[in-house]
Amino acid sequence: MTTVIITRPQPVVAQAAAVYQAAGLQAVQAPCFDVVTNPSVRAEWLRLPADVWVILSVHAMTHALQLAPDWQPPAATRVIAVGPAVVQAWQQRFSHPIDCHPAMNSEGVIELLQAAQPQSVKILTTLGGREAIRQHCMADAISYHQVNTYLLAPLPVEAALRPAFDDPSNAPVLTATSVGILQQLQASLSESLWAMVLTWPLVVGSKRIAQAAEQMGFSVIKQAASPRDAHMCQAVLAAKESLNRIAVCDECQSEFYEQSSKMTLLCPECAHWLYGHENCDHNFAKGRCKKCYWDGSETDQISSIKKG
Ligand SMILES: [Zn+2]
Ligand SMILES: [Zn+2]
Repeated sequence: MTTVIITRPQPVVAQAAAVYQAAGLQAVQAPCFDVVTNPSVRAEWLRLPADVWVILSVHAMTHALQLAPDWQPPAATRVIAVGPAVVQAWQQRFSHPIDCHPAMNSEGVIELLQAAQPQSVKILTTLGGREAIRQHCMADAISYHQVNTYLLAPLPVEAALRPAFDDPSNAPVLTATSVGILQQLQASLSESLWAMVLTWPLVVGSKRIAQAAEQMGFSVIKQAASPRDAHMCQAVLAAKESLNRIAVCDECQSEFYEQSSKMTLLCPECAHWLYGHENCDHNFAKGRCKKCYWDGSETDQISSIKKG
């Protein structure tokens, strides 16, 4: 069974894992951040009027309500969400209309701002990120007020990843829905463990994350249609299929999963005995290893090497 590492923040990691599990994947919860209300935000800041409110995450909205439980937009305020998850959460709480662009990213928000032509914008978000929206407001002389309603508190992740580190022959699929998650993973792991993580196939939620991942040194990167759990899960399933591409071993003639061997023309078993590469920790069922697909074939040469 394919293992998927779910790195979404603590408050949503369990619901995300359930989506992957329902698709038949083994989901490991490894949240890189907890989400906490920003104690330095004053409720008055949230009530200051603005022509447009932009809500960049569900966390930004729920923590605004923690800070100011009676918070709600004045009637004439246009509210823009970054994506459908915010729209859904908003509609559960408010009857005030909310828009969202199908692109589900900063560029989409900017397009909606260009159409709305506001004098003032209030952005609900957290520290960092989404620089593009701020720059757009500066360039268009729109009064810009950013309220960081929540903060991301880094969490240690090594323990959750330990089983994956201990079984290097069975690489999991890593998922990341923000650049910050990848940065936090790198910061919290030793250099040698991070080097292992870089060899894992990675599924990301946007082009921006894919580009950052490539710069960090990931080699197998797949981009989901959006950072939503359902789309991320679809991309993991597609990645899994391409990872299970089958090759034929030049030595023993057995088929094997390309991804399971360090050598393109040899199965992990032959690559181990002929060249000393790490072998697969085989797990046989119905005459084939479930991990590398080797069928147990052995040439005379390999048999004699094994006998020493
Ligand atoms: Zn072989
Ligand atoms: Zn094997």
